[in-house]
Amino acid sequence: MIGQRESVSGAHFGFTDRWGGVSAAPYEELNLGGAVGDDPGSVRTNRELAAGALGVDPARVVWMNQVHGADAVVVDEPWGDRPVPEVDAVVTARQGLALAVLTADCVPVLLADPVAGVAAAAHAGRPGLVAGVVPAAVRAMTELGADPARIVARTGPAVCGRCYEVPEDMRADVAAVEPTAYAETSWGTPAVDVVAGVHAQLERLGVSGAGRSPVCTRESDDHFSYRRDRTTGRLASYVWLDPRT
Ligand SMILES: [Zn+2]
Repeated sequence: MIGQRESVSGAHFGFTDRWGGVSAAPYEELNLGGAVGDDPGSVRTNRELAAGALGVDPARVVWMNQVHGADAVVVDEPWGDRPVPEVDAVVTARQGLALAVLTADCVPVLLADPVAGVAAAAHAGRPGLVAGVVPAAVRAMTELGADPARIVARTGPAVCGRCYEVPEDMRADVAAVEPTAYAETSWGTPAVDVVAGVHAQLERLGVSGAGRSPVCTRESDDHFSYRRDRTTGRLASYVWLDPRT
């Protein structure tokens, strides 16, 4: 894995890329998605490899059943034998529990208030941007004692606004909700910039200075891209907090 890990005052962010796993084509190598047609044993192995590389206990990772909605759920433990809920944001006040988002072009949004000890992970594609999954995640965090002014935020590898071509009317619909998402492809057709929209929403919520990955998944050979390859793997982005001493 040539992914990366970043730590800010007790909050940790981890991002994978496509290398260092055991999956065969077209999921090579480090596919972490369990619902894309890859061999389940390979996915399990990859999740252990990624967790090990990031310094996370693979048994303490919380995954979501992402559905492009705006529901956020508070979680205290991994799901275990319980069904994984259909949500696009998970929030926890449990230190050491890692929250994970699966993406291949959509925007992984990681949030942490190290003072309150509250973290959240959200999956924001175009529908999630419009539906408001980012405000839902921040709201759920504040209900657990987080302060938006203290929240450290990162967005991971995602398709950029110059690559995300959409029909004209779809761009208009998205821009009606989030004007900053209005974009044009590098070849001059209507596009949506979900990353810009997510960052504008964060600023409006009082979460400033969010870091953003420079990687465009569609342009990077080191990342999975649904829009480029259709049948492909999923990247994972993780957030977790140090146990407080
Ligand atoms: Zn791009």
